[in-house]
Amino acid sequence: MDFKNLQEAQKTALNILVNSYQRGRLSHAYIFEGAAGSMKFDTALFFAALLLCKAEEHRPCGTCSNCRRVQHLTHPNIYVVRPTKRQIVKESIQALRQEFSKTKIEEGPRVYIVEDADTMNPHAANALLKFLEEPHEDMYAILLAEDAMNLLPTLRSRSQSVPFHPLPKGTIEKTLSEEGYETTYLTLASRLNDTPEEARVFLDDENLESVVESVDAVYSSLHENQAALLTFREQAEEFVRNKQTVATLLDVFIHYQKDLIYGKIGNRNQIVFADRIDTIEALAKRYELNDLLAVLEHMLQLKARQKNYVNTRLALDNIMLDLERGLTDEK
Ligand SMILES: [Zn+2]
Repeated sequence: MDFKNLQEAQKTALNILVNSYQRGRLSHAYIFEGAAGSMKFDTALFFAALLLCKAEEHRPCGTCSNCRRVQHLTHPNIYVVRPTKRQIVKESIQALRQEFSKTKIEEGPRVYIVEDADTMNPHAANALLKFLEEPHEDMYAILLAEDAMNLLPTLRSRSQSVPFHPLPKGTIEKTLSEEGYETTYLTLASRLNDTPEEARVFLDDENLESVVESVDAVYSSLHENQAALLTFREQAEEFVRNKQTVATLLDVFIHYQKDLIYGKIGNRNQIVFADRIDTIEALAKRYELNDLLAVLEHMLQLKARQKNYVNTRLALDNIMLDLERGLTDEK
């Protein structure tokens, strides 16, 4: 983990922690709340390193032996509780309590991190509450949760909440490109998804490339005055049967349609499928803005209902027909 990347991605959360630390006003328990992939765990390690770092200033330095051991989870003053079988059980909290009731091997504050704290079962939550209520000097709890409302109110009231925002799109794109993902769909993936995890799932869809090609084929056929519905049936019919792929298909359609709208209003920089800009701008001229917006609205509605929509295929057919109808002769 690079503390610098973290600084860019979760500035507010880091500022809250650093300010409290500098003022000597740390809380003994924190709830880091935010979506998966918003770097809550990395920030918990940042917090532990802030407390344990050997440097006099610019803490945490990220390079001293304490910072390094925190980052590798090998420092004895760090303890992580994780769910077993998607749930945190009482035994895991008891193990934490036992570990931290031993005499310290090393000087300095102790920090425990409860990952996915919102998966604690009631026994575990009560055990944790008791542990929090006991006086412990120099001990800090960090509970990571996607939704803090799923935690016991008594746990919430004893903890300071730190909000985590979805990562900036640029950070997702940068993270994925550093992981070696090819650039072709990176912008699309990071615009469509809130976390690197979701973006990875999107990019790992083996049908992604063919999906993009078939959506492209639909708009190209409109451009060439051919029937979009026929092209869609030829090219994309097979994707409609697969739930994951139909979600990708809709995402790609939505962004292509948005690109047409950006083309129409002359907002070139926003266009995702920049390599198709000629087709997009030529097509955009042949639609009324209202018609483009109406089709987009249908796509978004379908996407929202897609999980329980029985006839996605029919709905998509209708969208193709809408696209055909709205098209006027070249102006
Ligand atoms: Zn350090």
